[in-house]
Amino acid sequence: MSDGTLTPEELAARASGNGVALWALTDHDEIGGQSRAAAAAKALGMQYLTGVEISVTFIGQTVHIVGLGFDPDNAALVAGLHQTRGGREARAQQMAQGLAKVGIQGAFDGALKFVGNPELISRTHFARFLVETGVCKETNEVFRKYLTEGKPGYVPHRWASLKDAVTWIINAGGVAVVAHPARYKFTPNEEFALFTEFRSHGGRGVEVVTGSHSPAEYLVYADAAREYGLFASRGSDFHSPMESHTELGTLPFLPDNLTPVWTALAARIQ
Ligand code: AMP
Ligand code: MN
Repeated sequence: MSDGTLTPEELAARASGNGVALWALTDHDEIGGQSRAAAAAKALGMQYLTGVEISVTFIGQTVHIVGLGFDPDNAALVAGLHQTRGGREARAQQMAQGLAKVGIQGAFDGALKFVGNPELISRTHFARFLVETGVCKETNEVFRKYLTEGKPGYVPHRWASLKDAVTWIINAGGVAVVAHPARYKFTPNEEFALFTEFRSHGGRGVEVVTGSHSPAEYLVYADAAREYGLFASRGSDFHSPMESHTELGTLPFLPDNLTPVWTALAARIQ
């Protein structure tokens, strides 16, 4: 429902077909697909946990916080996500202006065609537009040349605070998880600050095995999970069959000696 290309039903079928036993759909800042995903999982005999991936600004960088097992009807969570999405349209207009300066016209409308709802417009949609128009061969190239820090279409944005995102998730009965920590360009001190502050707000998990980590990074964050006393999570970061390097349900299992996050969520599994 945010920047993936498949429907919740198509994702459920693909996950189940690849042997996934317990699944969570984690759209960016959006939970409008949760009831469809849960129903599709049930029809396939697959267990389900509610999911979301909230954009947060922490010491000037965008960090993603995954929420699992929350009540999708929780009013404060729904309102918080709506507020977070509010910044996306204005940011996208600025991104289009930046791209126009280097000769790429019509990027706002072009990106919008891939999403429909301007509240959910993300860099991924701009990337697809630049591939469609032949500016780049693939979306990774668009990110490298146009959409990352210092490049013409990059616009920093202030998302939710770490405290707000964690609080929305836990007050809705869920568990908060730091998504793909190796993707952030934090110094060791900054990363320590992230985990320490995250825990102080009630955050309890970290993604260890993810499509955004290398096998060496699985081990680094397995150590971090043990060091900070966090539950371990496993997520594909799958967006699309054409763009994602990791297929649903094909990552290695979590390393031994970690406590999987779903053990903390047994009562929330549908
Ligand atoms: P946004 O929320 O608009 O900043 O966009 C975030 C999306 O961009 C996520 O779906 C990421 O997977 C994707 N993304 C971020 N950096 C890159 C990159 N270097 N290459 C490919 N995709 C990326
Ligand atoms: Mn992410």
